Amino acid sequence: MTERLEQFRNVVGGKRVESAGGQWIDSHDPYAGSAWAQVPRCTPDDVEAAVTAARNAFESPEWRDITPSARGKLLWKVADLIERDAERLARLEVRDNGKLFAEMHGQLRYIPEWYRYFGGLADKIEGSVIPTDKAQIFNYTLREPLGVVAAITPWNSPLLLLTWKLAAALAAGNTVVIKPSEHASVSTLAFAELFEEAGFPPGVVNTVTGFGAEIGDALVTHPKVAKVAFTGGDATGASVAAKAGEHIKHVSLELGGKSANIVFDDAPIDDAVRGAIAGIFAASGQTCIAGSRLLVQRSIQDEFVEKLVAFARSAKLGNPMDEDTNVGPVTTRQQLDTVLKYIDIGRSEGATCALGGGRPEGTELGDGWFVEPTIFTGVDNDMRIAQEEIFGPVLSVIPFDDEADALKKANQIAYGLAAGVWTQSMPRAIRMAARLEAGTVWVNTYRAVSYTSPFGGYKRSGLGRESGQKAIEEYLQTKSVWISCADGFSNPFVLR
Ligand code: NAD
Repeated sequence: MTERLEQFRNVVGGKRVESAGGQWIDSHDPYAGSAWAQVPRCTPDDVEAAVTAARNAFESPEWRDITPSARGKLLWKVADLIERDAERLARLEVRDNGKLFAEMHGQLRYIPEWYRYFGGLADKIEGSVIPTDKAQIFNYTLREPLGVVAAITPWNSPLLLLTWKLAAALAAGNTVVIKPSEHASVSTLAFAELFEEAGFPPGVVNTVTGFGAEIGDALVTHPKVAKVAFTGGDATGASVAAKAGEHIKHVSLELGGKSANIVFDDAPIDDAVRGAIAGIFAASGQTCIAGSRLLVQRSIQDEFVEKLVAFARSAKLGNPMDEDTNVGPVTTRQQLDTVLKYIDIGRSEGATCALGGGRPEGTELGDGWFVEPTIFTGVDNDMRIAQEEIFGPVLSVIPFDDEADALKKANQIAYGLAAGVWTQSMPRAIRMAARLEAGTVWVNTYRAVSYTSPFGGYKRSGLGRESGQKAIEEYLQTKSVWISCADGFSNPFVLR
């Protein structure tokens, strides 16, 4: 007899609901390679219900008239609840997307800080009094929420990436409909329940689960959705933005990347090796900021690659729940095929596979969707494995001659999410940071993010910024108010 899968429900208007059609989607455990839970397979009718609940909540006195300080306190309260449930939520994420417990638990313990930070900003949203050139007219601005925000998220770090949107959107006074990835929705559904417990009015935070192709359009084009905040692949992002544009909606996009991690010959080599590993094998390469193009100065290439391969070879693949596992499986069966396809492409393009290059063997890996940490050397910057986002543990090592060559190669790409620079020369670090076409530049470190610091992409990696004080602007609009202090209203046929 087959085991009954655990079912998780959406939160809509404060109620736990199944889909209108009564259908479910299986959610898979990538380590076991089999289904472990189910989430509702929503339809456009479910989207209608969730957006209506969000709009009703937006117009309700419980939310509309709450003071900004009280709104901030709700965010602090939810931060405490997330902290309380961090371990449980992290376990759900690991089961659902296969990333390491150490990584997910670290994220869950850090996530509350976004709610505290943006909770603190809630009562610092200020308009201004504008000194106009009009006599006897008083002009000031109000900074107001947009309305219903659709937050569309990917599978790789579901709660962290959702939080970057949600904390700012709620602090600004919006209501939200969350659409998590069909590949890893479970933690989002458990997470959404905490908002009601924290005291948010019903309908302020809602969820719809399902396939992008089935419910994406209904959500993005819904007349009551004011803004789409999207994180995902650039092709999906482009089509979401086009639809949002047709319907004149605000949109922000956090998209993919193919980031250059650049090692100069004066770099602290052992640190740079660990930085290169962090860039591509942490999270099995499934991060938008993966340093998947390793640019190494030709003079140290052989020594560096030797150390890098030795370090990567020692990485332990295994159960993502185990503390001593370094590399877990990739999240979906489809992603496993994509990564293996790119490894074939790398070989056929003439790159040398210096490590890995296939599915690992080992009884402890069972039926898990594992890919060996893979390093290609002799990669030309115009090869597909150097230009296209693979989103898996596959590194392309590209040699460069000098600073100008490094910059040229680093910037010769459609993406611009992040870059790393390893050097002991501060003038060089500052020059590189100024000229790299990327929204984030790390020097002698990699994968550092904070609620205080803006994050977002240049070029095809996105529009808008998340985190940091300015991020709240993405969820506000400005109203200009004119009050006449004059006696009477003269000539109606001229511009005042
Ligand atoms: P994806 O683009 O396939 O899906 C992202 C989300 O969009 C999912 O919820 C999906 O259901 C939804 N979607 C799909 N079609 C849609 C449509 N027509 N309308 C509306 N929504 C639709 O991305 P993914 O495979 O889940 O995630 C991996 C990608 O996300 C990678 O490219 C990665 O680089 C990117 N990413 C970017 C960041 C960032 O902050 N820049 C962070 C993490 C991941």
